[in-house]
Amino acid sequence: MVKNFYLSCDPYMGILMRAPTPSTLALLDAFIPGKPIAGIGVSQVIDSDDPSFTKGDMIWGIVNWEEYSTINPAGIFKIDVNVNVPLSYYTGILGMIGLTAYAGFYEICSPKEGETVFVSAASGAVGQLVGQFAKLMGCYVVGSAGSKQKVDLLLNKFGYDEAFNYKEEPDLDSALKRCFPKGIDIYFENVGGKMLDAVLLNMKPYGRIAVCGMISQYHLETRDRLQNLPDIIFKKIRMQGFAVYDFIDRFPKFLEFVIPYIKEEKLTYVEDIVEGLENGPAALVGLLHGQNVGKQVLKVASE
Ligand code: NDP
Repeated sequence: MVKNFYLSCDPYMGILMRAPTPSTLALLDAFIPGKPIAGIGVSQVIDSDDPSFTKGDMIWGIVNWEEYSTINPAGIFKIDVNVNVPLSYYTGILGMIGLTAYAGFYEICSPKEGETVFVSAASGAVGQLVGQFAKLMGCYVVGSAGSKQKVDLLLNKFGYDEAFNYKEEPDLDSALKRCFPKGIDIYFENVGGKMLDAVLLNMKPYGRIAVCGMISQYHLETRDRLQNLPDIIFKKIRMQGFAVYDFIDRFPKFLEFVIPYIKEEKLTYVEDIVEGLENGPAALVGLLHGQNVGKQVLKVASE
């Protein structure tokens, strides 16, 4: 039994509220109406009959959205509290989100120093990390986001070279041509739809697209039809979707990589923490409308 402190709000949770399809079922089970929803949480062990966990241990993993949860220890990670970072980080930079950015960028994008990188939803939980990883590698990095506040963060906090507000600049092709006069080597895809269509026109030959998410498409009755897909052939683009769970064996290596950067303040992480379980639904819906600034976290109890 665990006491829950922090719960993670994630875009995939919206998908689990819809009627399952064969494709979504391949990822995770849909939520059941009338039962608590579940997601990544940071919690403390209250009682355990599993010898690997003792009372007082801090853990992260899948818990229900409630104050206390009885959980199956399979797939639960113990937190090393000596690392001395905010515990909420295990919903984000030090958990699944961090691993998503790490595996998606370094493994799927095959980046090289000096390449040009574009990130959509660039100030969000995953995007802010991808942009910083790309800068650490010596790439030229541009991000798109949906408000002036987020664009300011991209430029002044996360070190993006250029950024634009896609809501104020609906001619996405022109915005991308201005930021990438010679084209894009790597696109880290978080939104899909019209953005992907415009990016395809601006990719360089042999460019790579890591399809992490397509949040603009998850809740549409009729999904956007793309015009520029043949560019994948003409430019010999490699486009690959991925799911973070396939990279779980990289997690220890990822922690070894990322913790020193946090300690040396070479990586920064912005969180948007909402307090109170009763405010969870609004936080989750807000995330799907771009109201979060940084990683959306729900604080259920004080440590
Ligand atoms: P974010 O923290 O980036 O929050 C979601 C953001 O998406 C919003 O703040 C908003 O930013 C943007 N957004 C929302 N609706 C739209 C829309 N209609 N069009 C364009 N942008 C929109 O979330 P995460 O970083 O947690 O997730 C980013 C993506 O990564 C998601 O697509 C998610 O599903 C995916 N993901 C995939 C994983 C995998 O294993 N493949 C694992 C984790 C996440 P803005 O204001 O800038 O528009």
